[in-house]
Amino acid sequence: DIGVDTDVAIIGAGPAGAAAAALLVRSGLSVHVLERSRFPRFSIGESLLPQCMQTLDEAGLLSAVEAGGFQPKNGAVFTHRAHEAVIDFRDKFSDGWGTTYQVERADFDQRLIEAAAAQGARVDFGVTVTGFRPDAQHPCLTYFDESGHEATLAARFVLDASGYGRVLARLLGLGRDPRLEPRMALFTHVEDHIQEPNFDRDKILIGVHPEDASLWYWLIPFSHGRASVGVVGDVDTLSAQGGDAEQRWQRLIEAEPRFRELLRDARPLRPVASLQGYSADVTRLHGPGYALLGNAGEFLDPVFSSGVTIALRSAQQASPLVVRQLRGDSVDWQCEFERPLRQGIDTFRAFVDAWYDGRLPSIIFHDAHPATIKRMISSVLAGYAWDTSNPFVSAARRRLTTLAELCGHAPVASGDSP
Ligand code: FAD
Repeated sequence: DIGVDTDVAIIGAGPAGAAAAALLVRSGLSVHVLERSRFPRFSIGESLLPQCMQTLDEAGLLSAVEAGGFQPKNGAVFTHRAHEAVIDFRDKFSDGWGTTYQVERADFDQRLIEAAAAQGARVDFGVTVTGFRPDAQHPCLTYFDESGHEATLAARFVLDASGYGRVLARLLGLGRDPRLEPRMALFTHVEDHIQEPNFDRDKILIGVHPEDASLWYWLIPFSHGRASVGVVGDVDTLSAQGGDAEQRWQRLIEAEPRFRELLRDARPLRPVASLQGYSADVTRLHGPGYALLGNAGEFLDPVFSSGVTIALRSAQQASPLVVRQLRGDSVDWQCEFERPLRQGIDTFRAFVDAWYDGRLPSIIFHDAHPATIKRMISSVLAGYAWDTSNPFVSAARRRLTTLAELCGHAPVASGDSP
């Protein structure tokens, strides 16, 4: 095309942008990624799910990840008032990977985008996208570099992978109420000094506050004796703790016996950070000449570590459609991209809702499930939220409600459609 700088312009070099870039250059398209920051840069979102290994593999990014020496992950341990429940992702209903990694994102994201660049994607750092002109054939981005120079990038298709930047959602007014209560997270990295022989570094540890079940904790072990430790709760409860972020985090860790015990010798590696109101949604994930990937579209909640998996999955679903469209085929983005992608996101949403209204904790801490049921739940928690042959995917809400009641949970009235 005359006047076109690249086939595909991608906003953002996080996991969604890197995977899309790699998949598209592998299909023979030219790709230009515009990234606001300079890598390595900190990002939260460190515990991956096995499902995402398949996308990394297909995008030719897996060897770069494997070379990173990241902490392997094979499941999750949940703890509440001395009860422990173990989910092993290798024992699951769906086919596919049963293991993955827990990653420091600064390093992980840099590896992904470097591997995408090595496959042929052009990546510019330190450039911020500020404008977008939608057009079915010739969409165009405006951006600024660090010295304030403005430039444009004319493409044949634009993918927005700008994460919390939500560039196109903001510019096009696509945002809508995420239908989840606003919550806050307080988190940091530590040198954990965990000596306990029974502690399983291959699993994320999720704790529930002993008195206030609306508060939960994560402990994500990394390699080299480091870990990510966070607390999540509704904004009012966490704010009511008083003091600064550091003091609130410390006080909350001390309130949970298992976390207090495990982290008694931990040393902080960075100041405690806080994020709030991170859940987001949009009215549509595509439009003339563009599609939204990962967090630039929808973000639910961190409790099941689904963010990077959804980000990678969105790249994997969009890329072949972009290739087809630019070859001249007609693509039904609603039926072929948005609907199937949202089906998996909705599975996670059903699990997130069931976590916060207490159904899921009563299922998880009930230790007498038949093995088949346990495997179906393990599968969703391993990221296989798009496998509709799993009844906990195809009828997630109804199944979770029925099972929770069998586990003794009082029936939940509101918002629980089948
Ligand atoms: P990002 O990784 O956010 O990448 C977007 C990139 O776009 C960034 O590099 C940014 O600099 C760039 N950008 C933004 N604006 C612009 C612009 N205007 N121009 C150019 N570039 C721009 N997920 C998990 O999988 N596991 C977890 O354990 C987990 N824990 C979480 C805990 C918390 C408290 C929160 C809030 C989230 C958590 N997540 C987790 C979610 C995870 O952080 C995200 O889902 C994931 O990073 C999304 O990837 P992405 O590629 O869509 O966006």
